[in-house]
Amino acid sequence: MEGALIARDKVGVQDFVLLDSHTSEAAFLNNLRKRYQENLIYTYIGSLLVSVNPYQELDIYTVTQMKLYRGVNFFELPPHLYAIADNAYRVMCSEYNNHFILISGESGAGKTEASKKILQYYAVTCPTTEQLQTVRDRLLLSNPVLEAFGNAKTLRNDNSSRFGKYMDIQFDFKGAPVGGHILSYLIEKSRVVHQNHGERNFHIFYQLLEGGDKDLLCWLGLERNPQKYTYLIQGRCAKVFSINDKNDWKIVRKAFSIIDFTEKDIEHLFGIVASVLHLGNIQFEEDSNGHAIIRDGSQIKWISKVLSPLNVDLAFYARDAVAKAIYGRTFTWLVNKINGSLANKDSTQKTVIGLLDIYGFEVLDTNSFEQFCINYCNEKLQQLLIEMTLKAEQEEYELEGIEWEPIPYFNNKIICDLVEQKHKGIISILDEECLRPGEATDLSFLEKLEEKVGDHAHFVTRKLADQKTRKSIDWVDFRLLHYAGEVTYCAVGFLEKNNDLLYRNLKEVLCNSKNSIIRDCFLLSELDNRRRPETVATQFKNSLTSLIEILMSKEPSYIRCIKPNENKEPGKFDDFLIRHQVKYLGLMEHLRVRRAGFAYRRKYELFLQRYKCLCPATWPHWHGPAAEGVERLIKHIGYKPEEYKLGRTKIFIRFPKTLFATEDAFEYR
Ligand code: ADP
Ligand code: MG
Repeated sequence: MEGALIARDKVGVQDFVLLDSHTSEAAFLNNLRKRYQENLIYTYIGSLLVSVNPYQELDIYTVTQMKLYRGVNFFELPPHLYAIADNAYRVMCSEYNNHFILISGESGAGKTEASKKILQYYAVTCPTTEQLQTVRDRLLLSNPVLEAFGNAKTLRNDNSSRFGKYMDIQFDFKGAPVGGHILSYLIEKSRVVHQNHGERNFHIFYQLLEGGDKDLLCWLGLERNPQKYTYLIQGRCAKVFSINDKNDWKIVRKAFSIIDFTEKDIEHLFGIVASVLHLGNIQFEEDSNGHAIIRDGSQIKWISKVLSPLNVDLAFYARDAVAKAIYGRTFTWLVNKINGSLANKDSTQKTVIGLLDIYGFEVLDTNSFEQFCINYCNEKLQQLLIEMTLKAEQEEYELEGIEWEPIPYFNNKIICDLVEQKHKGIISILDEECLRPGEATDLSFLEKLEEKVGDHAHFVTRKLADQKTRKSIDWVDFRLLHYAGEVTYCAVGFLEKNNDLLYRNLKEVLCNSKNSIIRDCFLLSELDNRRRPETVATQFKNSLTSLIEILMSKEPSYIRCIKPNENKEPGKFDDFLIRHQVKYLGLMEHLRVRRAGFAYRRKYELFLQRYKCLCPATWPHWHGPAAEGVERLIKHIGYKPEEYKLGRTKIFIRFPKTLFATEDAFEYR
């Protein structure tokens, strides 16, 4: 695998740090485009992997390919997911430490596919025993179950994950996968009751209707036709060409039996899915007192009793709130259940590789509470990446005994603080408003924002917006300057979504449900929430804080996924769209940090191995220490002192052109 020590050919460079004009966005895009057009979808920035969704099946995920990447030095083969996965694995096995692979990018960029491919890579290449076969199957099969309940067709992706996912894969001292654990973030509950045009509800509803056998549907009181259900018809696309609900249903059913679900569990679970559909079909009318009554009382009796003091609007609102609560909590239950089945019972110490598949920075036409949370999450992860990369650079310099050269970069901590600081940050201000029911509104929240963070450098007030950016800002909007750019948020619904309240009496009804899953979900929440429940934003903030802690204690690898066009089309490289993502993903910033000191560094042994033929003293054999050999070699070919530094184990080369000259000499020798 000689030629690949650095690859530079007609298809661009395989590592962006080797670009000549390393800070130019145009050069970056050019390189990405050239490679994409040759179906080379992977490119490195140092050890970070950039991936562009090919929107077609490529022949690079075969078992032969997997084996090729096993145990091979990171840079010796073309960039690949498998190289990242293998590198993390190998370091874990040899240093016995923990790792994570952070996969980010916008919806449809290929994050979930990447994480599945990595999991498959481990399933195929890691040692296993017959005993461990079940663990392996469960790890793999947890995916279709979670996707059935947590993914949906959206305009951007037919299989869009509507929750963030962090999954630890646990390995024993032999490097065999022996267990796992999943954390989920912010499942998009609102989808249960409302879908935009061209989008669907969560897959499981359609799977059940399409795939469930007659008896099951009959028992659940369901009809096969999705058009019968209010919660399934709003998007007007129950059937999707790329999705085979019937087949997926079979996979999910099989997965359930392998992941330790009892028949009772399964019964209750489908009972819940069905009850959500029934709930959605409840219609209310006004009685003579202006109170809601259920139009067709035969369907569900209990709900009328608790809802009847409400007017019709509130009754519908309460109905949807119940559906969302039931679904949201059932999803959490499902994750816990899967965790139970993945848990490794023996107590010997294990090492883990964590896979984080989480929504990237999001800017829609209208940005609401959800985008606010998602973008806040991306600020936190960006900070983690910058900090860890800088730290790694600094440590490597130190380790190699090379003088540290400070790197100028933008520290986005200031934006994280703006959002999360206690008492002063946006989340605190929002929570305070949520404590004033009846008085506070989305508008009073906006006013508080202006008052308390109005002069923050990354908050654009209505007053300033026009002068600063010449773009007017609506009276219900506020604007944040994120590291990735400006985002305008519409404050409408912030209070309600943050509160996420369920009428008390509805909760009580649910606590008494005969369905054990529902009872567990709601009883538990009653127990740990005797005090005021935490708001959604605060819960999210806390879970992010612990996620960051989990990640900080591990060795990082990063995969940044890019969506090449809006039409899911192979081969189409939309410059405009991609430029945006390069920015939102912080790639130029990362390249700058990574490239600030030295573009290229390699172990003396590897460097000497490749270029020893360029110097009579080292060719054909060099018998002394590799470091001395390299010193002789570069003296001979005339490296200037400012072009390189010699560390303890590696040579550091400042500019790509130095390396390329050497490479040319090598090729034309
Ligand atoms: P994300 O999780 O980032 O929203 P997905 O991973 O679900 O995106 O990818 C969206 C779609 O793009 C997939 O359903 C698949 O059709 C296609 N895709 C993504 N990555 C690949 C890949 N490596 N090879 C082939 N197709 C892919
Ligand atoms: Mg996804």
